[in-house]
Amino acid sequence: MRLRTIYIKKKFLKLLFVSFSIISLITILTKITNNLTTSPPPPPPLVINKDRILNTFPSVNATYDIMKDLEDSFSEDKIGTRPSACFVTLVRNEEMDDMVNSVAYIREKFNKNYNYPWVFLNDEEFTDEFKDKISEAAGNITIEYGLVPEEHWSYPDYIDTDKAAETRIRMSDIIYGDSESYRHMCRYQSGFFWRHELLDKYDWYWRVEPGIGYFCDILDDPFQYMQDNKKVYGFTITIHEFESTIKSLWQTTRDFVANNTEYIAKNNLIDFISDNNGETYNLCHFWSNFEIGNLNFWRSEAYNEYFDYLDHAGGFFYERWGDAPVHSIAASLFLPKDAIHFFPEISYYHVPYTNCPIDNAIYEKYNCECNQDDDFTWQDYSCGVQYHNAQNLTKPMGWTNHTG
Ligand code: GDP
Ligand code: MN
Repeated sequence: MRLRTIYIKKKFLKLLFVSFSIISLITILTKITNNLTTSPPPPPPLVINKDRILNTFPSVNATYDIMKDLEDSFSEDKIGTRPSACFVTLVRNEEMDDMVNSVAYIREKFNKNYNYPWVFLNDEEFTDEFKDKISEAAGNITIEYGLVPEEHWSYPDYIDTDKAAETRIRMSDIIYGDSESYRHMCRYQSGFFWRHELLDKYDWYWRVEPGIGYFCDILDDPFQYMQDNKKVYGFTITIHEFESTIKSLWQTTRDFVANNTEYIAKNNLIDFISDNNGETYNLCHFWSNFEIGNLNFWRSEAYNEYFDYLDHAGGFFYERWGDAPVHSIAASLFLPKDAIHFFPEISYYHVPYTNCPIDNAIYEKYNCECNQDDDFTWQDYSCGVQYHNAQNLTKPMGWTNHTG
């Protein structure tokens, strides 16, 4: 009897063991097949040859010299003479009050002494009220109002408008992700503003937006400084881009570069926009709501080829490429780095960031009224540190007290 019980127990245990093993085996097999079906596909192969890019960015046997496209602006006889320059603003009628404030700042801090003209652009006609209020605020300067031509503010035939509409739904949870007009605006600032006929007569522009502020006296003429010192692109604030808005911008840029290596400037500023010599984009860019620049750069063959390539790739509509990263990548790759200039002494505010010189000598010399603790330059989300390192610039004393 005992023996039989032991025998049954043994048999039972064996059965238990076998079924346990089968269950485990099934679980493992299901896990494996599940994994096989749900793991993401491998990333698509790079379209371009990586070695070629890496060898290209730092220095290139350039057959194309961008400074040739700009040589008229920097001819010897122009040094010390008044630059052919204007302020330029793209704005909507509804932004009139904020625009009046911006104009008042510019007049008070700078233009009352220089009287540079101003060009206002809009995709709709400006109202008489807008023009009257602006004229009143701007003082005795020439002001011109221009309508953006429809072909600069609409879909080119190579864009699939259904795909663009789907993008706006897919991206509706990010800032301006659902906006169609914002995309036309970014594409316009990237590829068209300088093609407006009202800008034809100028070499230099200073971009001004509604609702900005200037808090130091601008004692020296930045246009003059740039003309006399062969500077092409000037900025006050740098910042990181939202990655989700420009997912394929860098890959598209690399594609372009691979086929157009001649446009990469010797001694370029790649280290500002990439931490690994061009392999990836570090999201750093010049904040383009403020720009002082030479229009002939945007008119250049290099930039036009680049913009055209980007535009055909479709990211202005299928993602939400901003003009700031587009301008900044172009300036960093196509210009020699000594043609790019940071103006620490121009205190500037655009919601929510401020440039305020933390260098006390500058702060006092330019009669600044900003709060140095508000300075964005050295904070983590800014790219001031990357810029200073890439340009080998000395950072001001105490900059580490303004990080975070
Ligand atoms: P943000 O600085 O990225 O928040 O974008 P903004 O709303 O300031 O737009 C950038 C610039 O383009 C500003 O000068 C705006 O006035 C202008 N802007 C934006 N959208 C439009 C538009 O649909 N029409 C016009 N005429 N100007 C626009
Ligand atoms: Mn703005």
